[in-house]
Amino acid sequence: MLIEPASGGLYCAAGGFHIDPWEPVERAVISHAHGDHLRHGSRAYLCAEAGERLVKHRLGGEARVESAPYGAAVTIDGVRVSFHPAGHIFGSAQVRVEHRGEVWVASGDYKRSADPTCDPFEPVRCQTFITEATFALPLFTWDPPQATVAEICAWWDEMRSAGRPAVLFGYALGKAQRVLAELARCTDRAVFVHGALVDLTTVYRESGVPLPPIQRATETARGKSFAGELIVAPLSARGSTWMRRFGDHSSAFASGWMRIRGARRRRGYDRGFALSDHADWPGLLQTIDDSGAERVFVTHGYTHQFARYLRERGLEAQPWETRYEGEPEGTNAELGPGNSEPGNRSPQPGT
Ligand SMILES: [Zn+2]
Ligand SMILES: [Zn+2]
Repeated sequence: MLIEPASGGLYCAAGGFHIDPWEPVERAVISHAHGDHLRHGSRAYLCAEAGERLVKHRLGGEARVESAPYGAAVTIDGVRVSFHPAGHIFGSAQVRVEHRGEVWVASGDYKRSADPTCDPFEPVRCQTFITEATFALPLFTWDPPQATVAEICAWWDEMRSAGRPAVLFGYALGKAQRVLAELARCTDRAVFVHGALVDLTTVYRESGVPLPPIQRATETARGKSFAGELIVAPLSARGSTWMRRFGDHSSAFASGWMRIRGARRRRGYDRGFALSDHADWPGLLQTIDDSGAERVFVTHGYTHQFARYLRERGLEAQPWETRYEGEPEGTNAELGPGNSEPGNRSPQPGT
């Protein structure tokens, strides 16, 4: 097999590299900068040029990072490697690997919905496709993003009329910036953000992603009223002392998990918006079709269910054990050390 699940990550023996390894390796080929796909300690990293700033930002100054533009092949020991837009977050890529006429594509994370912060997913033909399966159940279907964003705007309007702060939680890298970019289309009001989002948002802005003005909620004068303001915050800020400044507020979570009936209430949010950076069920099936692959390996999420479904449709499909984590479910802190503000690490209430 050209790529196999080894102890440290997905391994290409012919090229001597790993894709999104979870242990330090000699040569890491990286799909995108989320913490479960990009880990510290490898000797060298290769990623898509669009994602290079984010990868470097997350790894820190010492790491050796090289990049290639989307579509441009890099040859590693006779194996051709190229990156193709995955539509997941800014700079995210599928990794295409070609050796002696055999073509594999490792998807990383991907989505098919439009996202103003990144290049759209590009279907890539291959014989073997390694897919994620975060939301691989038929109940996960997304409304068009404009409709979900309109719901967020309506909620903000409602809170503005009620004179209450509206605190929207989401993944700190990708989701938060996507929400900001979407809001820029319907308002020119400044949005407040948690400090953990500032640097990542700056990287996006400096990379040319159009984003509305943001204000750091901690920089505002003590006693400032956030009545009617929208505040975007990472999950790690939930239940922290940082939240006290907002007093009586309405809370919401932007995530694909909000599609599950009762999930919002169980997790204690006032509102839920099913806005995901992962493909929904039709998006996954469409992508498998578009790839033309006869063989599919399934990583993170509903791996067994999805592999079984694909087998029933006549494909060769197997789940693969990996350490990827998928989309945080709204109760856990998702930030690594160094990205959070002091005082926001208190445990989450409930489950
Ligand atoms: Zn991801
Ligand atoms: Zn993932």
